[in-house]
Amino acid sequence: MKISDIRAVTVSVPLEAPLLHSNGAHWGRFVRTLVEIETDEGIVGLGEMGGGGQSAQRAFDGLKPYLLGHDPLQLEALRFKIANPTASLYNNRTQLLAAIEFACLDIIGQKMGVPVYQLLGGKLRDEIPFASYLFFRLPHLETGQGEVRTVDQLVRHASELRARHGFRTHKLKGGVFPPEYELACYQALASAFPEDRLRYDPNAALSMEDALRFGRAISHLNNDYFEDPIWGLNGMRRLRESVGMLLATNTVVVNFEQLAANILSPAVDVILLDTTFWGGIRACVKAAQICETFQYSIGVHSSGELGVQLATMLHLGAVLPNMTMAADAHYHHLLDDVIQGGKMSYRDGAIAVPSEPGLGVKLDADKVSQYAEEYRRLGDYPYDRDPSRPGWFPLIPNQRWADRPTK
Ligand SMILES: [Mg+2]
Repeated sequence: MKISDIRAVTVSVPLEAPLLHSNGAHWGRFVRTLVEIETDEGIVGLGEMGGGGQSAQRAFDGLKPYLLGHDPLQLEALRFKIANPTASLYNNRTQLLAAIEFACLDIIGQKMGVPVYQLLGGKLRDEIPFASYLFFRLPHLETGQGEVRTVDQLVRHASELRARHGFRTHKLKGGVFPPEYELACYQALASAFPEDRLRYDPNAALSMEDALRFGRAISHLNNDYFEDPIWGLNGMRRLRESVGMLLATNTVVVNFEQLAANILSPAVDVILLDTTFWGGIRACVKAAQICETFQYSIGVHSSGELGVQLATMLHLGAVLPNMTMAADAHYHHLLDDVIQGGKMSYRDGAIAVPSEPGLGVKLDADKVSQYAEEYRRLGDYPYDRDPSRPGWFPLIPNQRWADRPTK
């Protein structure tokens, strides 16, 4: 079997409202690039990439000379063809590799008539539990709906998500407002849902002192972990010595060199595996095996997703014995999806692992063309800027917080 064509299309799919994070915002939509890899046997595999608010279409077009004629079953060769760690120093292709790998696994699964999880060792669970992934949100630019800034709005939003989707783990994405305000928000969530699990992720925006104060103030709560409170393995190691909480990262352990460094000199307790950041589903499975050996817990990270990427997260989560905590997904903030059948649904806070061959999702051509047109209309957005704070840009550690709500 040989790859005979690669097609990439960038889409812009609307969110309920702009999502704020420590580095800026998702400006009311996700810009994602969908990849279709076709083989000489007529099988089409799907991949997806994005998250930074920009199109990756030209980057995929540029990979055609590397990939046309490649056998999609040769996944290790694929890694070295496009992401050899020294040959690709000038043009880091790890995330492109991930999307191509998703599509190749989709092709292999379809050829064999089995879901991708069967190619990864078989599933250990039928559904993947997710956290609520709460963001501070700006009002929708057109409708004015969906704002989450005040403590009351946050708790109400979490209650609605909990009732609608069944979440029993709540993740607060912070690093936006002053730490003492976000601490009050987190404590309000803990009071509102005393039986539920909690996690806080300010995307490394805190200083050591703020992180220590925040961590010590919440250490008695029902926390899964304190996620990327500060920047860097060395900072995390210093914090870990005194904060008395499990630390997690999706930021400073995103490859095998960093994983090895963290094992040799522990700085982080929980490794959040992202199928894009690590360069594919299989890289995450390999990393999870190392974590299992050294008894590090893992989680499944969300870097923003439509249904294709979500399927990669579900197949990954299905095969990991040491995934002991709920995964993250931005998915429920989306208003729509590009896969046939519409958005996947949560039941009791979990999404079922697809059971059709390959990734188990197919593109809805009408939706793809609708949202490709939307991308042509709206273009990119700067993920590392906040539409409500002109001129602002993120610092680490941050001190220039958004104005705390007065209500
Ligand atoms: Mg994170």
